[in-house]
Amino acid sequence: MDRAQVRHGLTALPLAELRSWANAVRAAVKGEGVFLRGIVEFSNHCVRNCLYCGLRSGNRAVRRYRMEPREVVAAAVEVARAGVGSVVLQSGDDLDYPAGDIARIIVEIKARCEVAVVLSAGERPFSDYDLWREAGAQRYLIKHETADPELYARLHPGRTLSQRLAAQRHLKSLGYEVGSGFIVGLPGQDADTLARDILLVRETGADMCGAGPFIPQADTPLAGHPPGSEETSLRVLSLLRLICPEVNIPATTALATLDPENGQSLALLHGANVIMPSFTPPERRENYRIYDHKAQVDLENAREAASRAGRRIIRDGRVR
Ligand code: SF4
Repeated sequence: MDRAQVRHGLTALPLAELRSWANAVRAAVKGEGVFLRGIVEFSNHCVRNCLYCGLRSGNRAVRRYRMEPREVVAAAVEVARAGVGSVVLQSGDDLDYPAGDIARIIVEIKARCEVAVVLSAGERPFSDYDLWREAGAQRYLIKHETADPELYARLHPGRTLSQRLAAQRHLKSLGYEVGSGFIVGLPGQDADTLARDILLVRETGADMCGAGPFIPQADTPLAGHPPGSEETSLRVLSLLRLICPEVNIPATTALATLDPENGQSLALLHGANVIMPSFTPPERRENYRIYDHKAQVDLENAREAASRAGRRIIRDGRVR
């Protein structure tokens, strides 16, 4: 598919048609299973100032926290105990969380649990990525956010899309599976931007891609911007599945926030095959607010969404 065809899929094809194609490709390539990734949000400190994000450094209303390494390991052990095969350690770009501490956390988790360790700790010196890979991390989530370089620069003061893509390339060169992603409904974005987003995921060879609707956060410059559309988000997921058949696609928490009842099950019916329940300790969760009214997706919600979509939770290829 070229850019014009993707634009056509985003704006003109009947959604039911897209859903049916995407569902057929998902079933043929990924099967009926829904994979779980358990998220532990271990620090909400961030040196960046992204215009859409509640964790931006300019937001003084956030109560900042940084979990101690032993607390992070304990949360990861809970993920493994729940039978979830991947633990995602997520934070803002917290450059003061020592890379060596994170490496020791990875080593300890790998020693104690049979899980894949996924990092989502933003842009750090490449030497940190090297260290964490050596420590045993297997995947890294770092979304490209938007494929429009000018929009990227406007939304991420002081940063560029090419820096982001360089980080993705470096991570891939180290043997990480790389998860990309982007936001649907950003100010200044149109169908052509979204078509470029989808094609960029194919071009970079990402192993995973999350695409969820923009949700405003009250303490950010984009507080008054309307949320992204659920229908456009579902179109994006379907087209991602058609254009990148092998990629793992999460039913995002942002979609669950926009549509608490059906958002994630609809995503599973439009090409998605992953859900990422939170294992962040409850007393920390409240302060990890990238956007407002963030849905709390736990293991039970994940099971319900899978079942509403007529699917099964599976762990590392084994049905539970
Ligand atoms: S989007 Fe990520 S890098 Fe940007 S402010 Fe939020 S946590 Fe920091």
